[in-house]
Amino acid sequence: MRPKRKSPIWHPFTQHALHDVMTEIVRGDGAYLYARDGSRIIDAISSWWVVTHGHCHPRIVSAIQEQAGRLNQIIFAGYTHDPAEEVAAQLLKLTPDGLDHVFFSDSGSTSVEVALKMALGYWHNIGKHRSRIVVMEHSYHGDTIGAMSVGARSVFNAAYGPLLFDVTTIPFPAKGHEQAALDALDSICRKERPAAFIVEPLILGAGGMLMYPAWVLREMKQICERSDVLLIADEVMTGWGRTGTLFACEQANVTPDIACYSKGLTGGALPLAVTLCRAEIFHAHYSQDRTRTFFHSSSYTANPVACAAASANLDLWRHKNTRDQVALIAKLQEQELEPFRSDSRFANVRRTGTITALDLKTTDPGYLAGIGPKLGVFFKDRTLLLRPLGNTIYVMPPYCVTAADLAEIYSAISDAADAVYRSCIS
Ligand SMILES: *Cc1c(COP(=O)(O)O)cnc(C)c1O
Repeated sequence: MRPKRKSPIWHPFTQHALHDVMTEIVRGDGAYLYARDGSRIIDAISSWWVVTHGHCHPRIVSAIQEQAGRLNQIIFAGYTHDPAEEVAAQLLKLTPDGLDHVFFSDSGSTSVEVALKMALGYWHNIGKHRSRIVVMEHSYHGDTIGAMSVGARSVFNAAYGPLLFDVTTIPFPAKGHEQAALDALDSICRKERPAAFIVEPLILGAGGMLMYPAWVLREMKQICERSDVLLIADEVMTGWGRTGTLFACEQANVTPDIACYSKGLTGGALPLAVTLCRAEIFHAHYSQDRTRTFFHSSSYTANPVACAAASANLDLWRHKNTRDQVALIAKLQEQELEPFRSDSRFANVRRTGTITALDLKTTDPGYLAGIGPKLGVFFKDRTLLLRPLGNTIYVMPPYCVTAADLAEIYSAISDAADAVYRSCIS
C-alpha cells in the first residue's frame, strides 16, 4: 500500500502508518511549547532530555546570536577558536578531577563512538591486544552502529544485528541483586581482559529509567581498576544536573577514564558533544609517529556557534542559583511522587535527583504493546509532552518548571491510570 502523506519528512522513532500527524510547534519559552493551533504544552521531558534551563534561555540565545555573526564554522584540524577553548577549560574545572583532554563531536552517539575508539586506540597504541567491550543489560548508548553494538539488543536493532559487534553483558544491578552484577563484572574483567566497560551512571535512560545506587557505581569503578579495564561513563543523559549533582559520577566519587557528555551541554539549544579522557589515553596517541594519531573527525567538530551556546550553559552552571534550582526541582518532584508510592496501580515508583519514573501495572507492558503510544496520546490531549517508555511513565522537566506545572503533570498521570483501569484507552 502506497501511503498518501502531507509531508515528505521521515521522523525519528515514528511509525508513520500509525501516527502520521505531527504537532507543529512554532515557539518555545521556558518549560512551555506553543503549537500552531495556539495551545500551550508543558514540556515534561525536556524535549527528549536535552533542554535543561528551559527553551530559548535568554543568555544562551544571545550567545548564539553574537557568535553566529562573528564566526559560524571553521575546520577544527589545525585551527581553534575562543568558544571551543573556553568550553574545554570550563569543562575541566567542572568535571571529575583527572579528566584532562576534551574531544568534540556533535551528538551523544558520536561521543560514544569516539569513546570506544579512544579505548581501543589506547590499547592498540600501547601494544596490548584488548578489544572486547563490557556493557550493562538494558543499556542504551545511541543509534549509530558502534553505539548500538554496546546497547541492549532488541526490536530496535534486530534488523541491523549482522552489523553489530559482539560484547559481553553483565546483569542490571537491580535492588537486591547488586552483588550478582558486581561479581559478574569482576569475573569478566579477570577472565576476558576486556578493553573497557561502558555504563550509564546511576540511571539507564532509554532502557526504562532504571536506577541503581552510587555505591554500585563506586564498586564497578574499583573492579575495573583492579583489572586495568577502562571505565567509560556515558553521561549523555545523566549529566547537567539530572541526577541531582552536575554529573552522576560525582555521587560515587568516581573519575571515569573516559566520559561522554552531550544533550544538556548547550542547555539543549544546539547539537554538541564532548568526550573527555584521562592523560594516559591522550598520551598513548601522542607521538612523532603519525600512525598513532587519533583518526576521528566530523565536519562540524566544535562548531563555534554550538560552542558559544555550551559556553553560556557552563556560565549558568557556575552560579549557585542553578544548583539551588536543581535541588528545588528534586524536592518538588519527590513531593509530587510521594502519593504514588502507595498507589497500587503503579510499581517501582522511583526518583534519582530531578528524574522520576513509575511503571503503570498493565497486562501489556512491552514497548511495542501499544500502551506507551496510547498514554502519549492521552497526555497530548492534556497538552503535556510526556512520552512513556512502554508502561514506564517518567518526568524529566527543564529546571524552570513550576510547582503548578508539576501538579498538573502528576494529576494527568493519575487520570491516565484511571482511564487505563476503566479501559478507556487500553
Ligand atoms: C540519548 C543518549 C545517547 C545518544 O545521544 P544522541 O544525541 O541522541 O545521539 C547516548 N547515550 C545515552 C545514555 C543517551 O541517553
